Amino acid sequence: MRALLDLILPRECGGCGVAGTLWCARCATQLAGPPVAVSPRIDTGVPVWAVGAHGGARRAAVIAAKERGRRDLARPLGAALAGAVRQLRALGELDPPELAGLTVVPAPTRRRAARARGGDPVLAMVRCAAERLAPEAVRVERALSFGAGVRDSVGLSAHARVANLAGRVRATPPVGTVRSDCVVFVDDVLTTGATAAESVRALAGVGVRVDAVLVIGVA
Ligand SMILES: [Zn+2]
Repeated sequence: MRALLDLILPRECGGCGVAGTLWCARCATQLAGPPVAVSPRIDTGVPVWAVGAHGGARRAAVIAAKERGRRDLARPLGAALAGAVRQLRALGELDPPELAGLTVVPAPTRRRAARARGGDPVLAMVRCAAERLAPEAVRVERALSFGAGVRDSVGLSAHARVANLAGRVRATPPVGTVRSDCVVFVDDVLTTGATAAESVRALAGVGVRVDAVLVIGVA
C-alpha cells in the first residue's frame, strides 16, 4: 500500500525535502529544542517561547502543514510541542503536572481558511501534543475565534496587523479548565505577536490567565 501511495504522492521530508521519508531524523533533531525565549515586537504580557533555535526545518514544516496540506506533519510538530512543555517544566518555567493541570488553547483560525486547508493545522498539532503527554490528561480548549472583519494577515505591516486584530479575537470561557490550571497558548508561527497578545487579552476577559505562549517558529 505504501509503495502504491509513493507512486501517487512521492514521499518527502516536510522539513528539508529529502526524499523517501515524511519527516527525517535531522529535522526531528532540529525540532527537539531546547526551547528559546522570544521577545515579540508586540508585548503579550506573558513569557513567549519557540520550541527550538534553528529556523529551517520548523519554518518549512509549518508552511507545508499550513499551505500544502501536509496533515501528517501534525505528529512531529505535536511531538516538538510536547517536548518543549516537558523542557519548560524542567526549567521551572511551567508548573509541573503534579502541581497544576495543563490546558492548551490553540490560536484562533479564520474558519474559511481552515476549511480550505482541510482542517486547522494548529489544532491538529495541539491534539498530537496532548496525546504525546499522556497519561497526563491535557485539556485542549478551543476557546478563541476571530470576530467578523479579520483579514488574512499575510503581507500586512506590523501596524496593520495590530489594527486588523484589535478587539477582534473572541474568547468563550473554556469548559474544562480549572482555576489552578497552567494555561499555554499555542500558535504555529509568531510574526509580530499581535495574535498572541490579543488572544491573551481576550482570555483574560473571560477569567483565564495565560501562563505562557508557545510557538513552533518565529517568522
Ligand atoms: Zn528533513
